[in-house]
Amino acid sequence: MSSASSACTPYELYSKESGKSYGNQPLSICDESFTPLEVRYDLEAARTIFTKKAIEAGPDNMWRYSGLLPIPEGFQPDLPVGLTPLVRAKSLGKRLGASNLYVKNDAVCFPTLSFKDRVVAVALANARAFGFDVVGCSSTGNLANSVAAQSARLGMKSCILVPADLEPAKILNTLIYGARLVRIDGNYDHVNRLCSLIADQYNWGFVNVNLRPYYAEGSKSVGYEIAEQLGWKLPDNVVVPMAGGSLIRKIKKAFDELAFLGLVEAKHVRFFGAQATGCSPIAQAVKNNTETITPQKPNTIARSLAIGNPADGPFASRMIRETGGWAEDVSDVEIVSGIQELAETEGIFTETAGGVTTAVTARLIAQGRIVADETTVVCITGNGLKTTDCIADRFTLGRAVRPRLADFEDYINELDGITAPAEPELAIAGGK
Ligand SMILES: *Cc1c(COP(=O)(O)O)cnc(C)c1O
Repeated sequence: MSSASSACTPYELYSKESGKSYGNQPLSICDESFTPLEVRYDLEAARTIFTKKAIEAGPDNMWRYSGLLPIPEGFQPDLPVGLTPLVRAKSLGKRLGASNLYVKNDAVCFPTLSFKDRVVAVALANARAFGFDVVGCSSTGNLANSVAAQSARLGMKSCILVPADLEPAKILNTLIYGARLVRIDGNYDHVNRLCSLIADQYNWGFVNVNLRPYYAEGSKSVGYEIAEQLGWKLPDNVVVPMAGGSLIRKIKKAFDELAFLGLVEAKHVRFFGAQATGCSPIAQAVKNNTETITPQKPNTIARSLAIGNPADGPFASRMIRETGGWAEDVSDVEIVSGIQELAETEGIFTETAGGVTTAVTARLIAQGRIVADETTVVCITGNGLKTTDCIADRFTLGRAVRPRLADFEDYINELDGITAPAEPELAIAGGK
């Protein structure tokens, strides 16, 4: 195996199916088994590198886990990505009927407010090492934002392909960094196929195409953080939104590595996947007890999860069922309610993907699949400021009130739940 910088465990690409090793190169599919390549580490070497002591002495961001991330030799990570809050969600838990609920809040991930910052950070470190001048991605929105921002910071050119009908905020949040943005007249699966062709023809580093094995490993940091933030313990259940099905698999991989190395006690964690009904190929496969994904044509407001033919779908479906978990899907109406429920109970404003996850969690608790007093972590992966279009019609603005106390009192008495205080209090406060 090629060696990485001193603080990293040696790693290489390999295919689980064919057993073939590929060293380190920009490649994502095994040429014998035609299945996705994975990063494999020398886990015995990791025993002295990836220790609690080394991690706790590391920086306050995801790079504290560099010991088990594919970081090429000489790359000095400096962006403080990750280490987002894990908050106890007492109010949401009360509303849903669960007493031990936590939210992992990647809605505030640095620098572009989604968990995609983690995967892009690792992918771009490798893009640099492989000598790419131009990086790119096929994206449902958040990936576009993160590639644009982080490549700008590293001084790399970027070319980003998205479905033409993306949310306006996700388009603007890409253009602002000076990225070349190409809107494709088609859905994500069309965009992704085109990117594979471009990656073959041009010498460009596509973070989720030819750099995909490295990119995907960045998601493990979510799992490491959950365990460390729970006091080096694994939860009983995790609920994870699924697009391509990569994040949910990598959280599992992180937990397994921690248990193998003895950083946490081994535990049976159940994995629950969340999708929108308008694009739910993985949830359908789980429900049908199969690893075969039947591709769908996406039609949902949860555009960040709208991948009709998910690359990691078969593996995600198998893993979820093996852990004794389940997958559910929710309607667009439930997604909006989920966004509101999380905001009203925990003060966290998430995008449509987080609405999916919150609504699916509610359903799983109601079904009894998630046991009320077990430790359950809900992964919130993106920020609500990027998808305000879907909630705009939920609220009507009241009339503008003249800047006088009497007018304010008239108005406030019309609203639900709040009334103007009685007279004496007003007198104390200075009267009218
Ligand atoms: C991309 C994305 C996901 C899902 O990621 P996969 O690894 O493709 O399953 C979840 N939430 C948000 C907000 C995303 O942007």
